[in-house]
Amino acid sequence: MKSWSAPQIPTVSGRGKRPTVFCTSHRGPAETPRKLKEARLYVCGITPYDATHLGHAATYVAFDVLLRTWKDAGVDVTYAQNITDVDDPLLERADALGVDWRELAESQIDLFRSDMQHLRVIPPDAYIGAVESVDRVVDAVTRLLDKRAAYTLENGDVYYRVATRIEPPFGSTSRLERHEMLELFAERGGDPETPGKEDPLDPLLWRSERPGEPSWDGGRLGPGRPGWHIECAVIAHDHAGFPLTVQGGGSDLVFPHHEMCAAHATALTGEKFAKAYMHVGMVGYEGEKMSKSKGNLVLVSKLVEQGEDPMAIRTLLLSHHYRSDWMYTDGLLAEARTRLAAWRAAARNGTDPEAAEATLRDMRENLGDDLDAPAALDDLDEWADSTNEGGTAEGTQLIVDAVDALLGIDLR
Ligand SMILES: [Zn+2]
Repeated sequence: MKSWSAPQIPTVSGRGKRPTVFCTSHRGPAETPRKLKEARLYVCGITPYDATHLGHAATYVAFDVLLRTWKDAGVDVTYAQNITDVDDPLLERADALGVDWRELAESQIDLFRSDMQHLRVIPPDAYIGAVESVDRVVDAVTRLLDKRAAYTLENGDVYYRVATRIEPPFGSTSRLERHEMLELFAERGGDPETPGKEDPLDPLLWRSERPGEPSWDGGRLGPGRPGWHIECAVIAHDHAGFPLTVQGGGSDLVFPHHEMCAAHATALTGEKFAKAYMHVGMVGYEGEKMSKSKGNLVLVSKLVEQGEDPMAIRTLLLSHHYRSDWMYTDGLLAEARTRLAAWRAAARNGTDPEAAEATLRDMRENLGDDLDAPAALDDLDEWADSTNEGGTAEGTQLIVDAVDALLGIDLR
């Protein structure tokens, strides 16, 4: 699928360090090889029905900073992202709106593309839809059945058997207790109550054709459509490769989604799915997590439409550490706007080249430490406060380029 236009990334002198990142599965810093040369990044994409609220934007901007930090350290990155362009929430939304699900998906994906472009997010190398991956999913589910890692219910639905013996074992990604898994599974789109399943936690791999729902030829599986977890496992395999250096997404994907993706991937290939799992905190509004169902979405496109500078939105997002949960307020956006204006004013003055070098060093240091973007923004505040008449255009250029390359913020 077409992604969006890539922003220009200026070259900055010197090299940043390879970032150490917090891995959910390790519950601590991921083991990053000191000489990491090539990285494989897979970030779970949107289901195109409520794009792009600030929670989504926070996630993709966070991984954009990882990508930029890796590039700055000289790491070659293969980056893949999916779009779940057929799934229950999309079909339900289309039904409620009385529109064709394909039209809804297309319009929301378009909106997402334009939001990502406004926010200067680097597009993935492979941007792949569920619909264009159906054949590969059919092949994977058929192989899971052959390996006895899956079974078919009487109605033709195919489920993954979480009891399948794999190494690392099921549960090692989220490291949750079974009662916690059961709770989250029910909460986040799982179906523990479906009769005939061997284990309430077994996730759907292939949903057999239902009247009024889209379906595809499944060969031996019969007509139907893909489950969500197998979709990501297959796309990550085909377009990034295992083991992923980082599997990423919002923190609401820790379980069941990433646990199930990992289980499917390992059951299929015998390989570890990902070396590290990075999860971005949730953004709330008016006291609750932002979600369509709660009707409390703050959309990037709406803010831009109202005349907000996308760079102020990006500044707002980066002023929170990617792992923290936070609440959006108009006041926070105003604060981001003020900071951005101060940096831009400073960029119109000359900067002492030595001070510019020092700021770049500090920003690289902070980003290398679990992508501490808020600290890197503090470095910029300090730089903006201290610019003086002794500066040169060359020093300013260095800062402007560094902020662009590392943080994706355009100060021009
Ligand atoms: Zn995913």
